[in-house]
Amino acid sequence: MSSRFSIKFYGVRGSIPTPLTGPDVTEKLEAALELAEPGDLADEQSRKDFIAKLPVHIKGSIGGNSSCVVAQVDDHLIIFDAGTGIRVLGLELLQREFGKGKGKAHLVFSHTHWDHIMGLPFFGPLFVPGNQFKLCGVHSDLETRLRGQQKFQYFPVSFDVFGSDIQFVDFSNKDSYQIGDARLTWREQYHPGKSFAYRLEHMGRSVIYATDAEYKDQTPEGLKETADFFRGADLVIFDSQYTLVECLEKEDWGHSSTFIGIKLALQAGVRKMAFFHHEPTYTDFRLMKILESSREFKEMIAPFNPLELVLAVEGRQIDLLAGDGISDDQEAEAEQVSN
Ligand SMILES: [Zn+2]
Ligand SMILES: [Zn+2]
Repeated sequence: MSSRFSIKFYGVRGSIPTPLTGPDVTEKLEAALELAEPGDLADEQSRKDFIAKLPVHIKGSIGGNSSCVVAQVDDHLIIFDAGTGIRVLGLELLQREFGKGKGKAHLVFSHTHWDHIMGLPFFGPLFVPGNQFKLCGVHSDLETRLRGQQKFQYFPVSFDVFGSDIQFVDFSNKDSYQIGDARLTWREQYHPGKSFAYRLEHMGRSVIYATDAEYKDQTPEGLKETADFFRGADLVIFDSQYTLVECLEKEDWGHSSTFIGIKLALQAGVRKMAFFHHEPTYTDFRLMKILESSREFKEMIAPFNPLELVLAVEGRQIDLLAGDGISDDQEAEAEQVSN
């Protein structure tokens, strides 16, 4: 059997779901029209070709749903956090075995702030009898918290209405957890109420999901324990909600920046870092600028290090077992644009 280890982003926005606004759409239209040559607009096919070649922040959206990232490891589906992105994932899964009550998945929670759990009541597969879910987390009262979100004072439908088979798995008394051939480990992060980073390993490849974390001591010694947890990872999904300046202004809000991410990734020998949990007030153009300046910073301090930096974009899939290691559907697309 050929092995599979891929990651897909369904929710990438931090703190609160962030739909595109009218001015956001106008800015994208203006940018697209500025790039168009008369020939691009000549007929239906040329217009379609032109749009297909535009970068995602102009033709589409980086994404407004709150945190949800999916790992597919062989036949195992592992869902990190249940922000509003999980609703979209649920619609896709209902077209598959989950629509027939034959689906199985693990849901793994970093913590239970609203933006990481608010999609759960809208996750369709939970309603289908026969589906089997394991809801996992290091906060030992995870069940109480998730049930609390659906008390009638806050939500019309009780947790008891879910018709699928739901089991809770408490990670607080474990060091690691096995899902098929994959191994999951975790580490506590500095964040109000605590959050946990996860490391998922399979076939010698590894991905880290490290959202909602603040790094107080940014000296190499201060970052050492986190770097040890990130060590040699193929992909790190990293909370970079703020710019470096905002990080200083918003001390103890529990978030980080691309610049701290780069320092950590270099110290830990990471191959690729996906910036994640984007600040709700940032437009897609602003996020692209932050990515650009982050890449410049990396080139300045470590020009020969092969570390790759990308934005987590909804719908983006990264395959960790392809060819020499990692393939990325949107990177291939971006190359097309620059050619
Ligand atoms: Zn969050
Ligand atoms: Zn949080």
